[in-house]
Amino acid sequence: MRLCRFDDNRLGVVRGTQVHDVTAVLNELPAVRWPLPNYDLFVEALPRLRDKLEQAAGKASGKDIASVKLLSPVANPNKIIGAPINYKEHIEESKKDQTIAYGRVIKSIGEFGLFLKANSTLVGAGEGVALRFTDKRNDHEMELAVIIGRKANRVSEERALDYVAGYAIGLDMTVRGPEVPSFRKSIDTYGVLGPWLVTADEVKDPNAIDIWLTVNGEPRQKSNTRFLDYNVHKLISWASQYYTLYPGDIIMTGTPEGVGPVKPGDVMECEAVGVGRMTVKIRAAE
Ligand code: MN
Repeated sequence: MRLCRFDDNRLGVVRGTQVHDVTAVLNELPAVRWPLPNYDLFVEALPRLRDKLEQAAGKASGKDIASVKLLSPVANPNKIIGAPINYKEHIEESKKDQTIAYGRVIKSIGEFGLFLKANSTLVGAGEGVALRFTDKRNDHEMELAVIIGRKANRVSEERALDYVAGYAIGLDMTVRGPEVPSFRKSIDTYGVLGPWLVTADEVKDPNAIDIWLTVNGEPRQKSNTRFLDYNVHKLISWASQYYTLYPGDIIMTGTPEGVGPVKPGDVMECEAVGVGRMTVKIRAAE
């Protein structure tokens, strides 16, 4: 099942090129009071709402997906986790290019650890990226994003996929510079999640997904998640040794080689095959 959030916080089931408005099913979510739960209410409830979502989608007339504004399919993650230098070829290009490395010694993800992106970065494909610091190099990083479905605390690699709600494309937009990643990668709109969440049952093997990204039609990144250094199982398990993962948490699994600069006016097109394809526009921040 493909689930999107669109326009004015509508919830949609995507079938082919059509989005079916199933917002009414959100009435099933628990009424919450302060303090709010530290997980995404909808992602947490997804397993028990699936039948109702399918039924509602069958009754709702479809609308062309191209005519709606896609928001992030996860509204309220507890955290967004990033995986640095997680493809060998990207490590090699980072070593060679000081406008990526900025004097840092590029080692391996195991030595570097994970980083967090601020939740306030998060946008959907229809919202686009608003560049700041346009005097610096602003890069696209095309990644497979994993969306956690249930609480995961110190889980094994063998059981890791049991905790996944689904997948999406994650664009880990980045200002290059000497600052720590959690700072440079946490600018508003620098975390794009979309075009929708495809539920885990539709993805046979998250470690065998073709991913690509073009800018203004020019090929930039093309790889497959089989080339991940720490694969999806290992990333989930490793992250959960440090922090409890909650429904709606997002893990951006790392970018392959081919990262490069974007400028206002550019249009990114990207696809994780079997997950989705999206167009994201770049503008200057106001
Ligand atoms: Mn990244």
